[in-house]
Amino acid sequence: MKITFFGACKTVTGSQHLITVNGKKLLLDCGFWQGRRREMEQMNREFPFDPKAVDAMILSHAHIDHSGNIPNLVKQGFRGRIYCTPATKEITELMLEDSARVQVYDVEYLNKKRKPEETALEPIYTPDDVAPAIKQFAGTDYYQEFEPIPGVKAYFKDAGHVLGSTLTTFELKENGTIVRLGFTGDLGRKFLPILKDPEQIKAVDYLISESTYGDRLHDSLATSYLGLAKAINETYARGGKVIIPSFALERAQELLYIIHELINQKAIPPLFVYLDSPLTERVSEVFSEYPDLLDEETQKTFLQNNKDPFIFTTLRFVETAEESKKLNKTEQPCVIISASGMCEFGRIRHHLKNSLASPKNTVIIVGFMAENTLGRKLLEGAKEVNILNERLPVKAKIVVLNSLSAHADQYDLVKFIKGAGKLKKLFLVHGEKTAMDALAEKLNDANIGEIVMPGKGEAVEL
Ligand SMILES: [Zn+2]
Repeated sequence: MKITFFGACKTVTGSQHLITVNGKKLLLDCGFWQGRRREMEQMNREFPFDPKAVDAMILSHAHIDHSGNIPNLVKQGFRGRIYCTPATKEITELMLEDSARVQVYDVEYLNKKRKPEETALEPIYTPDDVAPAIKQFAGTDYYQEFEPIPGVKAYFKDAGHVLGSTLTTFELKENGTIVRLGFTGDLGRKFLPILKDPEQIKAVDYLISESTYGDRLHDSLATSYLGLAKAINETYARGGKVIIPSFALERAQELLYIIHELINQKAIPPLFVYLDSPLTERVSEVFSEYPDLLDEETQKTFLQNNKDPFIFTTLRFVETAEESKKLNKTEQPCVIISASGMCEFGRIRHHLKNSLASPKNTVIIVGFMAENTLGRKLLEGAKEVNILNERLPVKAKIVVLNSLSAHADQYDLVKFIKGAGKLKKLFLVHGEKTAMDALAEKLNDANIGEIVMPGKGEAVEL
């Protein structure tokens, strides 16, 4: 039996790992690559393995860097079942439909602007490709054992990262040998609002662990409240706009939850907050369907007080592209929350294009930004950026709040990995090299055993 690592190798996007047992193939996640557009486009379009030869798939959670290429996998002949929690199934359907629409929209926009000698672009998949993919999903509850391929038993625990996210524990059996393997997907953080805390994978021989923040310790959550209030108040005083690029899943709900609280506490003025992400609105509705997955405080708000913690009086939902464009003309100070989270696709790019050149405005970075994304350039203090084929100066204030991260930090990762058992091998994925090196150094002090940072396409026998 072996694992081949095809994505999220010394980088954070494109999660795809292939397990082979008894000649059958099980794919863990099927994420989209994000970064340099042309390069990523090719990597997303063509799989480094034959989709027809994959027998089943496990999806850890709905984020696009884990789920985004599923419609393409199915389009290219994958016919097996896709195991994930029922909440992940529901949210992934929304995310993939949105991803398809955004691809169609972006391609149309870029094709209009292309020079006559350039070939026309095509979306990798369209909304029509999503429904057939969703038919292959098998909603599976936490702790319910399933057998995705012969010789492999598995069950999910709560990863506490986003609604429905999982940690998977496997028992792999081949020629009388039994191996226990754990897969973190993305590991969440304790004490975040809304979700329950992450559980622990135990007693495995091998562990595939994410390492996004392997080189960093997060500030406490209180810092998010203070930082957000400070940035909003200062921008309000300048008469500017606050633009927050946000993942539609989890980060956006946390932002709404916190801004709602800040307004209630009178820590910020009751200014208009525009949620310019129809996807976020739909994803937020799914939260109320799964009260059991929420932490006690949020459950109380939903169940006992019958209130939606994400809705408040000055919140406005922006539905159509026309309404979104109208926001460009707004002179009033306001907050605009929009997707995509790494600023690579969608309406956020239009808001940034409209706001970056004025020092009155503020962009708040609240999530991880992968290398070569527009979000990463802003985070690193670029003085000029390219947006939608235009070169723009960055004069707006850029504020970074890493305390809102939905990922475990170095301390959490070390604790989790130590708790997973006496490992034969630890595979570090879903992190940049510097983050992995820093984490490995900490783990070496803790005597963890062999640490492998697989390269793209590298196969390891178990
Ligand atoms: Zn994630």
